[in-house]
Amino acid sequence: MIINVKGGKKFERNIAEKTVSWCIQKLGLSRIRTLEIYVLIEPVPDDCYGYCENKKGSNRSFKIALTNKQNLRYFVMTLVHEMIHVKQEARVDWTGDGEEEAWSLQEELTDEIWKENIL
Ligand SMILES: [Zn+2]
Repeated sequence: MIINVKGGKKFERNIAEKTVSWCIQKLGLSRIRTLEIYVLIEPVPDDCYGYCENKKGSNRSFKIALTNKQNLRYFVMTLVHEMIHVKQEARVDWTGDGEEEAWSLQEELTDEIWKENIL
């Protein structure tokens, strides 16, 4: 398992790392030992806060880009959203474009992160 976070400020990288680790547990991905998640905190196109793509055409290696030009809650929620897409692809299990699940889960998972006070 590789979790690698680059860009942004140190506290943002810290938060991103904790959020990704939490999502891996929560979404049941911890048994996929070969999973690689590369998070890049960087500017993204104007119409979005982040995106996720698989690297090397593999459903084990993912790049998640997200901007830090959003408040902390949205920063975490964007990452949670993209991690739901990672889960969908890693398990080859989604409906439609997968957005419905991602949008419907992102809020409650982010609330849980806040309640558990892990950041
Ligand atoms: Zn999405």
